Parts: sequence; structure tokens; C-alpha cells
Amino acid sequence: MTATLIDGKAISKQLKAEVRADVEALVASGGRRPGLAVVIVGDDPASHIYVKNKRLGCEETGVYSVSHDLPASTSEADLLALIDQLNANPLIDGILVQSPQPKHIDANKVIERIDPSKDVDGFHPYNVGRLATRQPLLRPCTPYGVMIMLQKAGIDVAGKDAVVVGQSNIVGRPMALELLMAGATITVCHSKTRDLQAEVGRAEILVVGTGKPEMIPGAWVREGAVVIDVGINRLPSGKIVGDVEFAGAAARASAITPVPGGVGPMTIATLMRNTLESALLRQGRAVR
Ligand code: NDP
Repeated sequence: MTATLIDGKAISKQLKAEVRADVEALVASGGRRPGLAVVIVGDDPASHIYVKNKRLGCEETGVYSVSHDLPASTSEADLLALIDQLNANPLIDGILVQSPQPKHIDANKVIERIDPSKDVDGFHPYNVGRLATRQPLLRPCTPYGVMIMLQKAGIDVAGKDAVVVGQSNIVGRPMALELLMAGATITVCHSKTRDLQAEVGRAEILVVGTGKPEMIPGAWVREGAVVIDVGINRLPSGKIVGDVEFAGAAARASAITPVPGGVGPMTIATLMRNTLESALLRQGRAVR
């Protein structure tokens, strides 16, 4: 079998166009334009690229954005005080604090300080709890983006055996909750999983987010599986690869996401969708 490519770039473009149309419809009907505050602490180059792409996402979707670029020496207290200000700002619907943060800042404390109704990353325990209890509000962007991508690609997960490799709070865990909510039977693998190859080999839907370049050999992939590669790794040569060995996996899978151009663009489009959803909820409007 040779896999169909799931074109995250094209699907994210479609999603951003939908968000833009909904933003303009909200404004045209007398509503307030959604606003996103992006906070970055320090000068990690990769984080600055992510933040730049998020600001571009705002421009493309008509979302008002404000940026707070803080020096690495910013104290935790000052960052928390900024979050308090943004929580109280009526023009702001979404607050995003880019990770990783400097070591002297407790990332969990920062997440918990964000008003859950403005937590467009979906990382606050309140929003994770809503997802775990099948009452989702603001959903973690990367797994939510994967679900939107699967839906737009016409892939139904109900009743399928889904295997998630990785159990982080931002990728693996919420991904498993999303797939469970959509009716898949889920297995979550991590570094202590005894026989990863056997688990991967059972997957009809395989989602991998480990941060280990090409760690899943294509030969492990079940014939006809759908493969979603969340990994983004830069090799010493400069080439960007995922966590799955692409060519081997594409030869066995029925559908596969490329890296780059798969899950990455979906995450940003979903952040915009979450900002729109937050603005609609905060203005007492229906979310479709
Ligand atoms: P983390 O390092 O937080 O988590 C990695 C997970 O992989 C852990 O749960 C770890 O298990 C598991 N793992 C590591 N090695 C193995 C192994 N040999 N066998 C089985 N499981 C293993 O990473 P993130 O979740 O933050 O990111 C994962 C990847 O996704 C990265 O490449 C990152 O760049 C990418 N990413 C992409 C995004 C996008 O928009 N496309 C967004 C966010 C991340 P354990 O818990 O036991 O240690």
C-alpha cells in the first residue's frame, strides 16, 4: 500500500479561512473582534519562530493580537502580574505564554494563573478536566488540531484501535482523551512500555509525539494504518524530520502526515479557532 498524504498545510488554510469568516461575521453583527495576547520570556530561537508564526496566524484570521516580549531575567512574580492584567483586560480573549520558560519560572503556576476562559492553549487543569469528562471547552491545540485534520480528511476513528506514543501533557495525554471521546479504543505508550513494536503494530490509528527523530521504523506500522506524526526534529544537517521513519511508514500506511506540513500548521490554525471560540463564549454567542 502507498499512503495518501494528509496535507496539514492545505487543511489548516481551510480552517483559517473558516475562522476568518466567523471573526468577520462576529464583528459585522456588532460583536467585538477576538483578541490574543502572546507572551514570550527569554530569547530561545525556536520559541521566537513559533511566536512569529502565531502572530502571522492572527493576521491571517483577523484576530487582534498584542505581544509581550519579556527578558529572560523577568521574575515569576512580574510574569504572574502581567497575566493578572491580561485576565482583567476585556479586549483579550486568549492568553498564550510560550514554552519553554526560564528555569526560575514554575510553568505549572503560570498555566494555573491564566483565567481558564482565556486559556486558548487548553493546558489549564480546568480545561483538561473538561476534556477528560467529555465536556470540552478550550481544548489543547495540537491534539484538537489532529482531530480536526482527521475529520476534514474523512477519517473516522470510532471503533478503531488507536495507539498514542508519548504521554506529555501537551501532546500524548490530551490526544488519548480526544481519541477516546471520538470512540476509539486507546493504548498510550511511553518510555516504560515493554514491547513498543507490538503495540505500534496493532494500531489502526497511530499518533506519535516523542521528540525522538524517526524512532518508529516504518516496518513497525500496521498495513493500512493512519499515521499521524506530531514530531518536529531538526537534524544536524538542518533537515526537519518527524518521529516516524516516513518513507517506510508511507509504504505501509493508508494515510500519513508529512513533516513538515502536517500537524505543525494545524496547531496554529487551531489556536486561532480556540481564540475565536473563547471570544464567542465570552460574548455569550453560540459556538458552532
Ligand atoms: P516530551 O518530551 O514532553 O514527551 C515525550 C514523550 O515521549 C514522553 O511521554 C516520553 O515518555 C515518550 N518517549 C520518549 N522516548 C520514548 C521511547 N523510546 N519509547 C516510548 N515513548 C517514548 O515531548 P512533547 O510531547 O512536548 O513533544 C513531542 C514531539 O512533538 C516533539 O518532537 C515536539 O517538537 C513535537 N511537537 C509538535 C507540535 C506540533 O505542533 N506539531 C506541538 C508540540 C510538540 P515518558 O513520559 O515515559 O518519558
